Amino acid sequence: SINAFYTEIAQLLNAEPEEIAYTESATVAWVRAFFSIDFKIGDEIICDHTSYASNYIAHLQAEQRYGTKTVVIPANDFGETDVEALKTLVSSKTKLISITHMPTNGGLVNPAERIGEIAKEYNIFYLLDACQSAGQYPLDVKKIGCDFLSSTGRKYLRGPRGTGFLYANKRRLNEITPLNLDLHSAEWNSINSFQQRNSAKKFETWESNIAAKIGLMIAAKQINEIGIDRIWNRVTEVATYLRDELSKFNEITVQDIGKLKSGIVTFTSSKFTPLEMKKYFTENKINTVTPTLSGTRIDMENRKLDAVLRSSIHYYNTKEEIDTFVSLIKQLHK
Ligand SMILES: *Cc1c(COP(=O)(O)O)cnc(C)c1O
Repeated sequence: SINAFYTEIAQLLNAEPEEIAYTESATVAWVRAFFSIDFKIGDEIICDHTSYASNYIAHLQAEQRYGTKTVVIPANDFGETDVEALKTLVSSKTKLISITHMPTNGGLVNPAERIGEIAKEYNIFYLLDACQSAGQYPLDVKKIGCDFLSSTGRKYLRGPRGTGFLYANKRRLNEITPLNLDLHSAEWNSINSFQQRNSAKKFETWESNIAAKIGLMIAAKQINEIGIDRIWNRVTEVATYLRDELSKFNEITVQDIGKLKSGIVTFTSSKFTPLEMKKYFTENKINTVTPTLSGTRIDMENRKLDAVLRSSIHYYNTKEEIDTFVSLIKQLHK
């Protein structure tokens, strides 16, 4: 039954099924969680330097609408969100810590668990964008200690387009009210009153794409059956192999930051733009993408990058495929 959607996603996150909501994208999940918080003038929202454009735009909107202030945690020497700096930024004004687990523009893995300890210590809402990590990394909401976690179906989970989900910690559900309640997320129980649903389903709407939801359920089931630890081991092994091969080229700079690195491998070339390389790889039947400045503007400006070439490694990619990719790069630079 369709309830398996909630048990499969809950298993993926070590959550309870009633803590899961189905949405039509990661962005929809994220904004519903974000705008359910009762922001007041002067409240501070702390976020990371690799914030995704859509999330940061919402932070700016909140400044305009509610008079909140956005505070960006600097990167440490490894390029990660600096947990020590975060400790100094937290105050009684902090309403939310909003973190990107893995950014869209590189292999960085932010220290989500250590940030969770601080959020818990100060009892601050913690919203984690796990868009790039769900399906490649072992997510455990109990270990991370987040109140909300959003993700998409279409990336490492390899589910259908137009799907996503939100995890909402059941202990926090009474403290928040989604802006877009309907007859599924709430009940009209007298002419002048309504009762919100007492589960993460209060972030859903009555109407949704059931076929796509089943597709995402099957995708999550497959990840659960293969085992996320095995997937993460394999992804990082193949991605490390690719980074090692790329570092042998004088003309190539691997652009991934952070100590721990994901399956997202990014690089630039001194001879070709990322778009030129992407076109060449497409002609040779290899899919890559080119994250640009405006997707993760703070980090890209910090590092003076306009764009990077991104190769997204999954568990089914082979070292032979990496060798083919690397020999194409060799040919291009010859
Ligand atoms: C892709 C991405 C999103 C948005 O996902 P959608 O499903 O397109 O809404 C959000 N955050 C990060 C870090 C992403 O990479």
